[in-house]
Amino acid sequence: MARLRIKEILNTTPQNQAIEVKGWVRSFRNNQFIAINDGSTNNNLQVVVELGLLEEATLKRITASASVKVNGTLIESMGKGQKVEVKATSLEILGDSDPEKYPLQLRNKPSLEYLREIAHLRFRTNTFGAVFRVRHTLAYAIHKFFNEKGFLYIHTPIITSSDAEGAGEMFRVTSLDMMNPPKNESGNIDYTQDFFGKSTNLTVSGQLEGELAAMAFSDIYTFGPTFRAENSNTARHLAEFWMIEPEMAFYDLNDNMDLAEEMMQYVIRYAMEHNLEDIEFLSNRLVDEEKQKPQNERSEMTLMEKLKFCLENKFERITYTQAIDILRESNHNKKKKFQYLVDKWGVDLQSEHERYLVEKHFKKPVILTNYPKEIKSFYMRQNDDGKTVAAMDILFPGIGEIVGGSQREERLELLENRMKEIGIPAEELSWYLDTRRFGTCQHAGFGLGFERLVLFVTGMTNIRDVIPFPRTPNNCEF
Ligand code: ATP
Ligand code: MN
Repeated sequence: MARLRIKEILNTTPQNQAIEVKGWVRSFRNNQFIAINDGSTNNNLQVVVELGLLEEATLKRITASASVKVNGTLIESMGKGQKVEVKATSLEILGDSDPEKYPLQLRNKPSLEYLREIAHLRFRTNTFGAVFRVRHTLAYAIHKFFNEKGFLYIHTPIITSSDAEGAGEMFRVTSLDMMNPPKNESGNIDYTQDFFGKSTNLTVSGQLEGELAAMAFSDIYTFGPTFRAENSNTARHLAEFWMIEPEMAFYDLNDNMDLAEEMMQYVIRYAMEHNLEDIEFLSNRLVDEEKQKPQNERSEMTLMEKLKFCLENKFERITYTQAIDILRESNHNKKKKFQYLVDKWGVDLQSEHERYLVEKHFKKPVILTNYPKEIKSFYMRQNDDGKTVAAMDILFPGIGEIVGGSQREERLELLENRMKEIGIPAEELSWYLDTRRFGTCQHAGFGLGFERLVLFVTGMTNIRDVIPFPRTPNNCEF
């Protein structure tokens, strides 16, 4: 007999039909009612075992997280809380779970911090069940969105020899014996003897390679892992995270912003349509969690409201210069409530400033454009004012920067000059510069940090709780 997933069973009209289900026990009440979960939904299937069906020894083995196989008939439920239930005709324990040792059984309401330590088991909780189903749906929605738009999915390399991108500190990849590395004449490690005959790293971004593909296919995107050895122990940074990077020929900065906004709204809407129960669960979870906080620190909107709000409102578009004016004149700044005060044009914005603009001032997602060139990357297109570049960052409530992008500098001479100014050797990036030599054109792209998107849609507050096995400074378990 074919096993049915619980999500499907719960949506089936009960007609005393015979069914088979496999899953893990969530709870067992009155020696009669078993709640079974198989990860297809947070809703458990109630299985009723009539008195006398099972031997005492088997009943004892129906413990939290034991895996079971149940055959029975699907009937209408008399109890509250579910429409259907299974009247068991047989039950087999597939794998025991010792309740004296099972970590999730030993604590009542385990904290998120504790669950991070047992990340191999946290998939089995309602919270993480919901988070990872939403994560899946968002990943699917991203591919669906770009596919519908005719974008090509390009796989850019994970090991790279280019270290010029400058997006962050890199992890070295080597097969040399680092206890006893070969040295060259000047006494430095001789990477010509390394696996690739040169020094290599894990990628921080697929953008430069993405641009090469866009110069042939017009519209492409990457969706892959990226690595940054930055020692920032924040709730928004991981050492290993996933990034979506579209790159479009013939787009200017406005086209770029339009696409990013459309994509964000598309994937949020898709998740709300396909994971509504999970998102409602997470929204309620957040309300409960915030009850512990003082009134003035609680969110003004529930998660559901925040997501809807994002779909119903155009993102506010302002320049960096306008943002600096708003921040400088804000009461927050005057009363010195920012950790970093905003005093002059040219400073990089901190997350507290980004969140002030989004959460306090505009109360909606904001796109900031035209940043000072000094605080942005060499490949961004130089504006005519000689001071700013055609960059755009999208800022989201609770998160700050979620997307970073720009129109790219397509003019060879200006690009070479900028590289010279900041000391990037042109020889190292000659392959990149070739796109500007042979058929260059206006183009643009952006990077969306996938975990930051998942954070937003699930309402979780720490990025370690939206990726199965987080990698952060001093932490690489599993
Ligand atoms: P931040 O200022 O927050 O460190 P960034 O300016 O370094 O971000 P970019 O280099 O523009 O970010 O990367 C593009 C996107 O990747 C960011 O908008 C963000 O969503 C995401 N991102 C960047 N660094 C991390 C990280 N360490 N962990 C998770 N996501 C990240
Ligand atoms: Mn960064």
